[in-house]
Amino acid sequence: MRLGVFGGTFDPPHRAHVAVAAAARDALGLDLVEMIPSARPPHRGRATADAFERLVMTALGCLDEPRVVSSPREIRRGSTSFTVDTLREIGQEHAEAELYLILGGDGYDDLPHWRDPHTILRLAHLAVIARPGSDGLDAVRAADRPRLREAGQPPPEGAQAVYRVPMEPLAVSSRAIRRRLRAGEDPGDALPELVHRFISKHQLYRDRDSD
Ligand code: ATP
Repeated sequence: MRLGVFGGTFDPPHRAHVAVAAAARDALGLDLVEMIPSARPPHRGRATADAFERLVMTALGCLDEPRVVSSPREIRRGSTSFTVDTLREIGQEHAEAELYLILGGDGYDDLPHWRDPHTILRLAHLAVIARPGSDGLDAVRAADRPRLREAGQPPPEGAQAVYRVPMEPLAVSSRAIRRRLRAGEDPGDALPELVHRFISKHQLYRDRDSD
């Protein structure tokens, strides 16, 4: 079984998040992608929607996308969410599964600053999707060069691959959407419809602290 692991703040989940999950699923033949909202992300300030709201929105955002599901595992675990712990947990639950950690280009750029990046690279292949405004695999780190693969190629012998996942770059971010919503503007097609309806109905992002 090939399992995609796609963590994020998802505050709120947007169209590019869903597109990234679907692109990785299709390019790498993943049986399932888990979108996992963090309980408390280590590298950011306080999220502006709470964990349960973000989990509900993530579930709604991927509702129509086959083999993409939301997972409460990091919110259930509580405290600060570290990807290495999540990969260990999934690895224990699915001992036979091959894990693919899905990252936008900014996530790849950031990875060396995460907790225990070497273990992350032992536990999972990386699946990296280009993101406007970040280098991503355009600036692949020297240590990763030997393991860089195009989607569809086999991984290096006895090691995890860094896969480049093709997707038309989408200049969408949660922060820009939060700003628009706070200003009372329409985020247009940046949000999946059900997420947009949930946000409107529950009046999220209206008068929260700004970031
Ligand atoms: P914010 O604007 O609040 O920083 P975000 O839009 O970056 O949020 P996150 O929840 O932080 O969203 O992102 C989760 C994952 O999705 C990360 O790996 C990030 O790189 C990836 N991602 C988000 N937006 C895009 C995008 N437009 N293209 C490719 N990857 C993306």
